[in-house]
This record gives sequence, structure tokens and C-alpha cells, in this order.
Amino acid sequence: MSRRYWIHSAPDDYTEDGQRECARGDRCSAPRLSDESGRTVRLPALTYQAFCPQDRNAISKALNDLPELFVRVHQRLDKTFQAVAGGPIVAVSKTAPVPLSLAADELLRLILATLVSWEERVRTVARLKPLDTATSRRRRDGVVFSQSWTILAAHLDALLALGAEPMLRDGEFVDLDGADAGLDLLDLAHRCRRFLTDTKQPSRHLSGVYCDCGYPELFELLDDDGQPAGARCRQCRAEYDAEQYTDLTRARVEPVKSYRRRPLQPAGRDDHTSRRA
Ligand SMILES: [Zn+2]
Ligand SMILES: [Zn+2]
Repeated sequence: MSRRYWIHSAPDDYTEDGQRECARGDRCSAPRLSDESGRTVRLPALTYQAFCPQDRNAISKALNDLPELFVRVHQRLDKTFQAVAGGPIVAVSKTAPVPLSLAADELLRLILATLVSWEERVRTVARLKPLDTATSRRRRDGVVFSQSWTILAAHLDALLALGAEPMLRDGEFVDLDGADAGLDLLDLAHRCRRFLTDTKQPSRHLSGVYCDCGYPELFELLDDDGQPAGARCRQCRAEYDAEQYTDLTRARVEPVKSYRRRPLQPAGRDDHTSRRA
């Protein structure tokens, strides 16, 4: 986690007109292309702020995406907890990796600690009431998250313009400024997306259900939250949404029912006459 703090720890190189390189460095979204001895090299955009406008937008988008990402990571935590605690099991396969909840919990702690640390800095420059950290430690996750997020979203440019001050990271004090705040937000959104992708369950084979192509090669499709969202055929690549898949299974169930009913049909004519008599 500390690696990226080196990226621009060297004194900023300002151009003559007071611009500096975008703090995203090599990953700048709007790089300048420059020709150096016949080779084209990408250089970060020049900007008067910490980030170029494109990367400022990318950070704003990452911040906007965070509430939904936070909820989705939180759901992974809850599902595993329920499975472990013997509660109602919702689409948790037996092959689910055990440390899932631990990884989700670590990520949630990182998000909260990071947001709260920047919230404290923003409160100082925006002259808001300081955060009472003693009580804030006891606030519930959702409350902590939405309060920090609201403050940061309302003061994004103040956040990105923060000067360097010592902040606690991985048990040590490091000088962090608004550029670090922007990189933190991009990093958190990226970690959430990677976590949600990595912890996706492998798609299950839906045995006994035939695709319209005639092969029983349907595999379950899951949505971003791991809930069943239909099926895909590995033979012909056809996709069925949840409703279409239900129709498909219903259509396959019908023949089975009529087959079972057959023995209930009246036997020979003789029986009828003998019963009536
Ligand atoms: Zn940039
Ligand atoms: Zn098919």
C-alpha cells in the first residue's frame, strides 16, 4: 500500500508558467506524446492542479462509484457470515474460499480508515466541526462511510488541493497531500472492483437442462453480487436471462410430469365393469 506514495514524493518540477506534471504520472489519462531520439514517449499532462482535468474526472467518478462498491463488498461479507453462522444460505457454493469474509473485512476497514483520515483533513481546511475520533470509532460502518463520503464529495477540489501534512499510514507517519488523496480514491475503487471480480463464484453446470440447440451445456450466469442471473450455453453461446432460463426449465419439466401421470390412467375396461357391478 505504501509503494505509491513514492510516486511524486520528490519535489515537484514546476514549469516556468507554474504548471507541474499530473500526479497520476505514468498512468495519466491525457499524456503528452514527445519524441525522444526517434522514440515516442508518453509524459504526464501539465496542469496547475494536482491532476489534469481528465484524471480529476476519473477521481470524481471513482468517488461517485464508491458507495455502490462499498455496499457490494459488504454484501460478500454478510453472505459468508450467514453461511458460517448457519443462517439462510443465499447462493453460497461449498467451494467458496474460506478467507472471503476476512478479505472483505480488511478491504472495508481500509476504505473506512482511508476516507475518515481524509475527512479529518478536509474538515480542517473547510472549517467544519472537527471529527470526534473517539466516538467515530464506535459508529457503525454505514454511518461512518456515508458521513465521510458526503464530506469528501462536497469538497473534492479542496481535498485534491491539500498541502502535504503527516498522516498515519501502515503504522507510520508519512507526508501526504491532495495528490495522494486522489490516488487513494482511485486505488480504493480499483481494489473493490478487483475484489468483486476475484471472488466471483465459478459458474455451475446446470445439469439436465437442455439449451434450444439440443445440448445440456448450460452454465449458470451470476450478476455482480453473485446472484443467479440466467444461463449461457457452452455449445452454441446462446444466453438466457433469469426469466428465459425459468421458462426453459419449466418447458423441460412438463414432459416429466405427463410421464409420471401415465400409471394413473384407468387400466382395462374389465375393471370398470367389475367395480360398477
Ligand atoms: Zn493526468
Ligand atoms: Zn446451446
